[in-house]
Amino acid sequence: MVYEIASIPGDGIGPEVVDAARPVFEDVAERHGFELSFTRYDWGTERHLEEGAMMPENGLKELEGYDAILLGAVGHPDVPDHVTLNNLLLPIRKGFDQSICKRPAILFDGVESPLEGYDGGDIDFVVYRENTEGEYADMGGQEHPGHDHEVAVQSAVFTRTGTERIVRAAFDAATEREGHLTSITKSNAQAHSMVFWDQIVEEVSEEYPDVTVERLLVDAASMDFIRRPEEFDVVVASNLFGDILTDIGAIITGSMGLAPSANIDPTRTYPSMFEPVHGSAPDIVGDGVANPLATVFSGSMMVAHLGESEAGEALWNAATDQLADSEAPRTPDLGGSSGTEDVVEDLRSRL
Ligand code: ATP
Ligand code: MG
Repeated sequence: MVYEIASIPGDGIGPEVVDAARPVFEDVAERHGFELSFTRYDWGTERHLEEGAMMPENGLKELEGYDAILLGAVGHPDVPDHVTLNNLLLPIRKGFDQSICKRPAILFDGVESPLEGYDGGDIDFVVYRENTEGEYADMGGQEHPGHDHEVAVQSAVFTRTGTERIVRAAFDAATEREGHLTSITKSNAQAHSMVFWDQIVEEVSEEYPDVTVERLLVDAASMDFIRRPEEFDVVVASNLFGDILTDIGAIITGSMGLAPSANIDPTRTYPSMFEPVHGSAPDIVGDGVANPLATVFSGSMMVAHLGESEAGEALWNAATDQLADSEAPRTPDLGGSSGTEDVVEDLRSRL
């Protein structure tokens, strides 16, 4: 079996981590009797600066036939973030109906949480973030530039289909984990969208009598991610709230360099996309010290999504074994002094 993978390393440390992790993925595939065939696309802000676009006009058409997409990062100090987001990431997520964004937050053995004195137990939860609408629906406008009555409107869009889809995915995950679900809202202040969200959670919950549901306002959740992270299991949130909360989830579990994510089209009509949560990290570009493990974990989710669950598990376990081994190489974000390549080499020996 050959799986065709489009790799878009992107900007900053994106190419460093994606290109470094690729041989690890090829190794694991070979050992499990399949092939991952990567095609690399140099799309990103360099291209934008030279040609005025992050990807070609027919970019989505080009990607459509792949089995999955592996993305590094997009972002550049000289280009506003809304340009990079709206020209590459969001078109892929929206164009390919990747409505489910899955982001695990796990404090792995051998990794210290930066929460000082944290001894609250294992952190192991997963955030299901709505990924194609909500506050990032890109609807709105600006009027009367420069006048006193200048106004900007940014609308949030919550459809029944989109909301049910993410809520149901989260309930399925909670069922599989035999766990509980926390639904994040701001229903006290957003009486239309978030009350609608609550209503859908209520409706869908009737199909899942075994799953306990907790409702939490996003401000309280931000606090509780710090105060009692061990109590979360499956968390479901809108696009904006999920975006913010998953950065907290990534940092309390040790490093941005460890957090993976999956952007999934639940209908499997289009390729799903796998990417580390971190950005282009301009502060460490070119130093050869970017942590490749977030990409490795993302690749593990990718391989599992392709149906190769044993290979996915092997990748995941090699990375967690490495983290648990105090003698193993570590990048500086985890307090070590090794480089990206050392980590990758050690990982390959563990497969
Ligand atoms: P962008 O604008 O592309 O989102 P950013 O400036 O927000 O970039 P992030 O990539 O989100 O930066 O990273 C935030 C911090 O985490 C940076 O200080 C960066 O050095 C660190 N970091 C992120 N990813 C990694 C990684 N893979 N390995 C080591 N450190 C990382
Ligand atoms: Mg960022």
